[in-house]
Amino acid sequence: QWRRVRARLHAELGEATFNSWFKQIELVGVGDGRVMLAVPTRFIRNWLLSHYAERLSTLWSEEDPALSRIEVLVHTRAAEVAPVAAEPQAAPAPTLTPAAQIDGHAAPRHVAQAAPRFTAPQPTSASQIPNGFEDAGVGAPLDPRLTFDAFVVGKSNELAHAAARRVAEATDVTFNPLFLYGGVGLGKTHLMHAIAWEIRRRQPERKVLYLSAEKFMYQFVRALRFKDTMAFKQQFRTVDVLMIDDVQFISGKDSTQEEFFHTFNALIDHNRQVIISADRSPSDLEGIEERIRSRLGWGLAADIHPTDYELRLGILQAKAEEMASRNGPVTIPDGVLEFLAHRIVSNVRELEGALKRVVAYASLVGRPITLDMSQDVLRDLLRCNDRKITIEEIQRRVAEYYNVRLADMLSARRARAVARPRQVAMYLSKQLTTRSLPEIGRKFGGRDHTTVIHAVRKIDELRAADSGMDEDVDLLRRMLEGGNGAS
Ligand code: ADP
Ligand code: MG
Repeated sequence: QWRRVRARLHAELGEATFNSWFKQIELVGVGDGRVMLAVPTRFIRNWLLSHYAERLSTLWSEEDPALSRIEVLVHTRAAEVAPVAAEPQAAPAPTLTPAAQIDGHAAPRHVAQAAPRFTAPQPTSASQIPNGFEDAGVGAPLDPRLTFDAFVVGKSNELAHAAARRVAEATDVTFNPLFLYGGVGLGKTHLMHAIAWEIRRRQPERKVLYLSAEKFMYQFVRALRFKDTMAFKQQFRTVDVLMIDDVQFISGKDSTQEEFFHTFNALIDHNRQVIISADRSPSDLEGIEERIRSRLGWGLAADIHPTDYELRLGILQAKAEEMASRNGPVTIPDGVLEFLAHRIVSNVRELEGALKRVVAYASLVGRPITLDMSQDVLRDLLRCNDRKITIEEIQRRVAEYYNVRLADMLSARRARAVARPRQVAMYLSKQLTTRSLPEIGRKFGGRDHTTVIHAVRKIDELRAADSGMDEDVDLLRRMLEGGNGAS
């Protein structure tokens, strides 16, 4: 049954979407009208639940009319953590963290409490790789953290990710060249390293060479100086897969460009895979000759767009899990991850940096991570990422949502019907603006900052205990963000 459901999903959704969301689902149990599925991360689970819950249950019900419920579990990756050299069968069975049901609600976030501690994934330590080509000093070492497993896929990068995967999995040349482009910190280098690791894992006999355009130039200039250009050419022209990162670097550098172009042509003519990245599309590469630009666009040019809210949240969850698995459990309230995803929009590197800073700060001062603390720690970062949602806007939306009068919500009334929306509005004001607690209090009919603190705590508690409240807050935040949460 599961195989048929999967096959139908595959057919309906297409390769890329299927691979991003469904490929890693495991069936862990069927019975009693229930189906239990396991996925590797919370992000995938949440995404499945919010986007595909209905489709999944429909498809499954067609296979098995007795089905009444689908449960999606998050399993920690015990199995994958085992060194590659070990027998895969000998790996411990995945342990399951508490279930989230399609009709259920997630408990507050205790990141990977159940996860075993482990160090960086084994398959990637360079010493194990038979092909030590990069150690010859020609290429650059690969970062063990930059793998496909660690890459979170969303709308903005799904094309680039799918293309990268295709190239990494193919046994011969596919898109040539594969040209990945996008703004800084959006994952180009990550994808290139991931391709390299994957090819080495699957086809260790293929010679893969990764280096930055800068390093390419440096090597070339050195070769010129030592009159050693023959050896230089030889090095590059004997590889099966050549990756050059940040090719915009060679714009304006005429002789390097020329040499790059020859190398590039030679490899393509000999049917070797070439992968290039840049911060802009081939046609926008100023300072690079027209014939080179046009040739760069011959294969597939895949762009990576700025992240959207969903993807940022997914990345944060994955990073938090990864941190927890390395350093032991860290409890990061959902509200804090959402806050970061909402407010740090510039690029993934900053997003990661912000999370690390908050976690490091909390552990240094020995206090639990809270929204308030995160805002304090990140004040300067937040200023640059300002989203400019006003407290007034929040109040208006919240009042509308709960169908209470704005004036009542801001008044001194204590009736539950207005007090709760008021707390939600305070909570969102804290989460979505940079206003201080006293400032927020003042905007709510001149209340004291301790009232705001109390409201924030209360809503945090309620969100953890009551899925209805959790959804309300989530929905409101998305509405305030505009549209479906995309930035
Ligand atoms: P670029 O080369 O495009 O400037 P990088 O590949 O260096 O960006 O990415 C910057 C940081 O963000 C890296 O630490 C990378 O691991 C992380 N990152 C970017 N995109 C993702 C993603 N989709 N999932 C997980 N991490 C990501
Ligand atoms: Mg880069």
